[in-house]
Amino acid sequence: MPFISLRDVSRSYSSGEGPPLHALRGVSLDIDRGEFVAIVGPSGGGKSTLLNILGLLDDPSSGQYALDGEIVTAGRGGTAARTRAEKIGFVFQAFHLLEKRPAADSVELGLMYQGIGRDARQVATEQALESVGLPDKTTQSVSTLSGGQRQRVAIARAVATNATLILADEPTGNLDSANAAVVLDELERINRGGATIVVVTHSPEVAARASRTVRIIDGSVHTDETRSPEAPDDGRDEPGPEAATTSAFGKRTRLRTADILRDAWASVRSRPGQTFGQAAAVAIAVALMVATLGLSASARGQVSATFDAHLNREVSARWSGDLAHLPPLAQIVPRASAVAGVEAAAAVVDLGPKTIASLSARREVQPHLVSGNIVAAARLTVAEANWHNGALAPREAYIGDLLAEDLDIGDASRAPSITVDGERYVVAGIITKSSRLPLLRGEVLLGGAPETDIRHASDITALVLTSAGAAPQVARQLPIAMNPFLPKSLVVTAPTDATKLRGQIEGGVQATMTAFTLVALIVAVAALVNATLLALNSRRGEIGMRKAVGARDAHIASLITAESAYVGILGGVGGLFAGMIAILVVTISQHWAPVFDLVLLPVSIAVGLVVGASGGALAAIRAARLRPAENLRA
Ligand code: ADP
Repeated sequence: MPFISLRDVSRSYSSGEGPPLHALRGVSLDIDRGEFVAIVGPSGGGKSTLLNILGLLDDPSSGQYALDGEIVTAGRGGTAARTRAEKIGFVFQAFHLLEKRPAADSVELGLMYQGIGRDARQVATEQALESVGLPDKTTQSVSTLSGGQRQRVAIARAVATNATLILADEPTGNLDSANAAVVLDELERINRGGATIVVVTHSPEVAARASRTVRIIDGSVHTDETRSPEAPDDGRDEPGPEAATTSAFGKRTRLRTADILRDAWASVRSRPGQTFGQAAAVAIAVALMVATLGLSASARGQVSATFDAHLNREVSARWSGDLAHLPPLAQIVPRASAVAGVEAAAAVVDLGPKTIASLSARREVQPHLVSGNIVAAARLTVAEANWHNGALAPREAYIGDLLAEDLDIGDASRAPSITVDGERYVVAGIITKSSRLPLLRGEVLLGGAPETDIRHASDITALVLTSAGAAPQVARQLPIAMNPFLPKSLVVTAPTDATKLRGQIEGGVQATMTAFTLVALIVAVAALVNATLLALNSRRGEIGMRKAVGARDAHIASLITAESAYVGILGGVGGLFAGMIAILVVTISQHWAPVFDLVLLPVSIAVGLVVGASGGALAAIRAARLRPAENLRA
């Protein structure tokens, strides 16, 4: 039974509109174990097509291929991948090694895809490199090796798995004659060890080494000549590595995740430029995410602080209707001040219209009688105040700047006086700003004597400024403090839904930032999809080689996904740092307190990983589907 048996094998390629192209037409060929066969013939004759079929990289359109007594097909499943991994070694014109990675990585690839453990792989790899005369190149980067050395590494890869069939496509095509001779010596040596060798070549030197030459012209076997065996010449007498008929590695297991991850990490590291570019896409998105999350936390803190500092602190209680239960004016402020959370309190009593007169003018105005710290409670800015802790003494007045101008009152420092319905008041200060009661700038505040009868007032209000966040509680307590028996007789004004409003503003800030971040992440995934697909283009040969040495579709998909995940994690960490710097820059320039949440670290890494893996998913699927035959051509 021949080792290789092709029966009536044809292969045609559909060429769009035109008639199909017949690359092979009814080829029948038997090759025995241990033969060294050269396939020669003019370009385009179908040599590579034949080799692809022999290597289970391609299926015939019709006809049958039996290897080692079994009918085999390339198909799509894992069976062909396993057959390739265990029985077939490939040597390509373009070497197809893992560039910028140690020579050993390329050699052990086939063993890895067979699921052989790391230690056994290492031993076999070292032996294989030694057998091709490169024992000291195990750790040397492939990109620093000469062409001849590269091809010997490729041969080491083919023999490391104890392949019984070595398929070589123009193995010396890229080599000078000296290096070509070394490579041919290797092939001969392996052949003497028992391996079957089929080599496609244009080179007479290569063909001369073979024991049989099959000439393919126009898709058919034209001639098939076997040379009578010569006496082995002395220099090439040493025995080659024994080609095993069964596996030399004992029990095989499934390819381990750790091996895929290690391989992916080495792959990512071997392309620093590309890795950096792709990681940068992720980093930008993660940086935006970190910055928006961090800034929204800082901004929310800022909103809350601003909110508490202003709106949320103003509470007032006004007596409405029945003024029978009114406390004396002197008691309103002490009672309000006793409420927990009150920082400043004042009583404001609106009197009926009165005539205010200065030396030169007079106006009809409604004055307010006040007690307590009116400056703080009403948030006044008073120029040139005759200062009593923000309070007015009896017979003193604060006059609004607009009214002061009307009445032609100049400087408060000269202690001018006014009369209110004929009673004299000293102007202790001029109100230039009144944020809480804006009308005050056209009005006048009068210091009330404690015993003043306020029963005829038109309106009485206790005005309170609370400490930050205390407003709701003060609003509940204030009417009780003012009138324990009839608290309902007071109308309380407070920013009633302050917490709710704050929550809404915070929610709004958060939602905007989140939307922004989502857009950034989507853009990053899109950029990465693009980048990984582009990168895949330059790796078609490598993917084809990985499949040729036994990788299954799932292995390739896992590799590309793991690589993208690594890139994503790198981007995530980079983005975290960039984002934190952005937060610092913004918060420092805005005089905000920066908020860093520790959870950003795992979140950044996780988001980077997810963005990376999903950005690489499409490339992973494409890579898994690549047909090796079409991607291994030089
Ligand atoms: P050789 O190796 O002898 O130069 P090939 O086997 O590469 O020849 O090609 C045989 C014929 O098949 C050529 O005409 C080539 O253009 C064609 N061919 C090879 N591969 C493909 C393909 N994937 N699609 C279409 N035509 C192909």
